[in-house]
Amino acid sequence: MSTQIRQRRIASEIQRVLMQELAKVSMDNKELFSVNISYVKMSKDLNHAKIYVSGNSKSVDALNEEKGRYKTVVAKSMHMKYVPNIVFIKDSLTEEAYKVDKLLKKIKQEDAIVDYNTTEKKIAEILKQGEKILIVSHINPDGDNIGSTLGLVNSLRQIGKKAIVANKTGIPDNFMFLYGADKVISTDNLKPEFDIIVFADCGSIERADLKDNILDSAVTTINIDHHKTSTNYADCNLIDPDAPSTSFVIYKMFKHHDFPINKDIAEALYAALLTDTGSFRYSSTSPAAFDMASELISCEVDPWHVASSIYENKKPSQLKLLGKLLSKIEYYFDNRLALITITQDDFDTTETTAADSEGIANYARAISGVEIGALIRIEGNDTYKVSLRSKNLDVTPIATAFDGGGHKNASGFSLTGPLNKAKINLLSEIRKLLS
Ligand code: 5GP
Ligand code: MN
Repeated sequence: MSTQIRQRRIASEIQRVLMQELAKVSMDNKELFSVNISYVKMSKDLNHAKIYVSGNSKSVDALNEEKGRYKTVVAKSMHMKYVPNIVFIKDSLTEEAYKVDKLLKKIKQEDAIVDYNTTEKKIAEILKQGEKILIVSHINPDGDNIGSTLGLVNSLRQIGKKAIVANKTGIPDNFMFLYGADKVISTDNLKPEFDIIVFADCGSIERADLKDNILDSAVTTINIDHHKTSTNYADCNLIDPDAPSTSFVIYKMFKHHDFPINKDIAEALYAALLTDTGSFRYSSTSPAAFDMASELISCEVDPWHVASSIYENKKPSQLKLLGKLLSKIEYYFDNRLALITITQDDFDTTETTAADSEGIANYARAISGVEIGALIRIEGNDTYKVSLRSKNLDVTPIATAFDGGGHKNASGFSLTGPLNKAKINLLSEIRKLLS
C-alpha cells in the first residue's frame, strides 16, 4: 500500500473515532457541542496527526488540554503499534475547503476545455461539410469584425466553399486593403440560400441585422466570439472570453483542424488582432496573442503595412470631426468621467459619417485621471449609440443594463432620445458604478 493511501486511511479512521468520542463528551461539555472535525492530516511517518476542527478558539483549547486522553482513545480503538501524537488545530476558513474549491475549479476548467475543443471540432467539421456559407458580423464593423470575417471567408473559399461576407453598413475605407473586402455585400441584398450562417465577433444576434427569411433558411448557425457578454444564440457557440480577439479563436481552429492560411488570410487575422488589442496594449495582450502575431508575421504579414493602412490613413474630414469633438468634451463626477457627444450637426458640418468616428471614444479615456470615457453618437431618429471605455472598471454591467454588451474595458449599447434624456439615463448608471 502506498504511503499516501495509508496516510489517508489512518486519517479517516482517526476522524471517525474522534467524532464518536466527541459526540459522547459533548453531552457533558457544552463547549464541545458544536465542534466538528473537518479534516485529519497525517505526517508521512505517521507519527503526528493534525486534527482540524471547526469551532471557536476556546473549544480548540479545551480539546488540546485533553489531547493525551484522545490519543489513548485512538490507540484503544485502532489497535495501532505506534499511536500518533495528536494536536487540534482551528480550521479557520478551512484550508481544506479552499483546496477542494481550487480542485473543483480546476476540474471545471478542464471540463470547459474539453467542451471547447469538442465544439471547435464540431464547427470545423460542419464548415468542411457545408456548401454555401454566409459570414456576418455587426453593423458599423470594427477591425476584429472585418479581419475575422475576411480571414474565415478566404480560408473557406480556398477549400472550395461558396462563402460570402455580408455587412449591413459596409467596410470602412481604411480596411479596404484587406483581401476580399471589395467582395463584401450588404445584408439587405442577401437571398435565403445558405446552409450555414456564421456570426463572427457579433455579441448578439440582433446586431447582425439579418432578415428572418435569411436566418430561417440556414440549416445550422454558428457563433464564434470572444465577448464576455456573448450569449449562446446559435446552434453551435464557440466563445472564448479570454481570447484577445475573435480572429484568435478562428486562428486556433484553423491550426487545430488544418484550414489553409495564406498571406491574405494571415493579414486579415493579424489586422483583427492588432485592432482588438489596441495595438497590443490592452490587458488581453497575452503571450498567446504575441505568439499568434509572431506566427502570422512569419506568413509574410508586414506589420507596418497593416498598421499604416489602418491608422495612418485618415481623411482630413475625420480629423476635422475629431478636432470639433475634442473641443467640447464634458467632464462629470470629479473628472472621473469624460463624455463626448456627436450630433447630426457634427457629422454634417464636417462631412463625415458614423464610420469616421471609430476610435474617438478612446480619446475620452486617454485623459489623465479619467476612469471612464463615454461617447454618445446620433444613430437614427432619436436613437443614440453609446460607447464606453474604461481604464480598470468593468463597464459591462452598464452595457447590459441597457441591453448591450461587450468587454470589461470596452462596451456599447443603444439609447433612445431625446439627447438630454439619453444623457441623464447614461449618467445615472455611470454614477452607480463610480460610487
Ligand atoms: P464600440 O463602443 O466600439 O461600438 O463597441 C465596444 C464593444 O462593445 C465591442 O466589442 C462591441 O461589439 C460591443 N458592443 C457595442 N455595442 C453593442 C450592443 O449594442 N450590444 C452588444 N451586445 N455589444 C455591443
Ligand atoms: Mn472583437
